[in-house]
Amino acid sequence: MVSPEVDVVIVGAGFAGLTAARDLGAAGRTVRVLEARDRIGGRTWYRTDLFDGVGLEMGGTWIVPEQTFVTEEVDRYGIAVSDSELPARMTWSDRGRVLESLLPVPPAELEDLELAVRALIAAGARLDVDRPLAGQGLADLDVPIRQWADEAGLKGNARELLISWFCGCGNASADTGSALDVLRWLAAMGNSVWGMVRASVLGRTFDDGTASLATALAEDGGTDIRLGTPVRWVRQEADHVVVGHDGGVVTARRVLITVPIGVQRHIEFTPALSAAKLAISTENHAGQGQKVWALARNVPDDLSGYGWGTAFDYVGAMYTVPEGVVLVCFAPEHDRVDGHDVADVQRAVREFAPEAEVVAATTYEWVDDEWSRGTWTTFRAGQITRYERDLAVPEGMVHFAGAHTAQRWPGFIDGAIDSGRRAAAELLAVL
Ligand SMILES: Cc1cc2nc3c(=O)[nH]c(=O)nc-3n(C[C@H](O)[C@H](O)[C@H](O)COP(=O)(O)OP(=O)(O)OC[C@H]3O[C@@H](n4cnc5c(N)ncnc54)[C@H](O)[C@@H]3O)c2cc1C
Repeated sequence: MVSPEVDVVIVGAGFAGLTAARDLGAAGRTVRVLEARDRIGGRTWYRTDLFDGVGLEMGGTWIVPEQTFVTEEVDRYGIAVSDSELPARMTWSDRGRVLESLLPVPPAELEDLELAVRALIAAGARLDVDRPLAGQGLADLDVPIRQWADEAGLKGNARELLISWFCGCGNASADTGSALDVLRWLAAMGNSVWGMVRASVLGRTFDDGTASLATALAEDGGTDIRLGTPVRWVRQEADHVVVGHDGGVVTARRVLITVPIGVQRHIEFTPALSAAKLAISTENHAGQGQKVWALARNVPDDLSGYGWGTAFDYVGAMYTVPEGVVLVCFAPEHDRVDGHDVADVQRAVREFAPEAEVVAATTYEWVDDEWSRGTWTTFRAGQITRYERDLAVPEGMVHFAGAHTAQRWPGFIDGAIDSGRRAAAELLAVL
């Protein structure tokens, strides 16, 4: 009989893994976290080495008070966060033409806009985000974003804006992202359309970056975290698990996997992962877009632009520095704009601010990164119905966390923390 080296090996030091490690450590369990990258934080990454020291979040950025798990941790560690400043007005770009109007539709289409808002709220009211969506008779919403907009009878600019906004929320294309997964944002914000806007790009940001919270979690209890240690295989024996990584092997009573959906199948499991987990990992999720930072002159310092038929679906001002305005930009497909090419980013930004002169641009290719294979989790159409119930189910001595296993906020930092807490409690119950 083998005496395992630790109680739990956690694969991944993103917010899910760090939270679970903190909770398990606090309960007196021995934990080792194995992280492939040379840093903690996973799909959050706060960088100050670009744009002359301006802090840029390459990944996760905004939180809202309605996200109770992350808010609790922010309060617990006294992490400084600030509310976004509201823009004086929204900017609307219709295929690159900036509209002069306050609303995104001409007066003749106001009825269409009202219909779109009503359709949104009617759909959102059907979701109970505290229970798995799969069992709630919502399959008609678990369809591609564009299909849902058409079936809801949306028309004109309101249709175009809504499709583009959903793609922006999902960082997913209109033909892959599940409308139901984006409607979950609405429902989780108390079915408030304004709440949904806040949860996307007008919430709170971390004054010293998301790294401030990740570090606080990692340092609480002094978890044993091994960086630069990719896990390659996980083998279950009769009464323990053996985990193979680039630096050797480690034995544990239980293992917690927190890697993103599309990454799971690249770890070799013995016995093999269940058919459902393998299938969704092979399909991957629909969050395959891009986030680009630009430093620009000649743009309003409170720009908040939504566009349809544009390369970026959102362009917004984050800070003003002596060299110009720092803009955050999103596109629902990762190859729409070359985020490192100043001229290409300028072309895309000018669809929102025609006079813009972009002087610097940068991005991180989460989609091409083997440790993420995507940006934030947005399920593909049909995946919630087919797989949601399977994602968090343990398989023998192997347990699962990660934002994608959360019910309320599977695309967010909050979902990651929620899942880490849930998994730690689950592990403590069986250890
Ligand atoms: C561009 C972008 C913008 C976002 N914007 C927001 C936002 O504004 N607000 C918000 O709340 N959320 C946002 N998110 C989502 C949020 O960042 C994630 O939901 C959350 O960070 C996921 O945490 P996690 O621990 O579940 O997964 P991850 O952070 O992906 O952590 C998993 C860890 O596992 C590691 N790993 C993978 N494979 C292996 C292996 N084989 N061996 C060892 N380690 C491995 C990875 O390196 C990673 O560190 C954004 C994400 C991106 C990419």
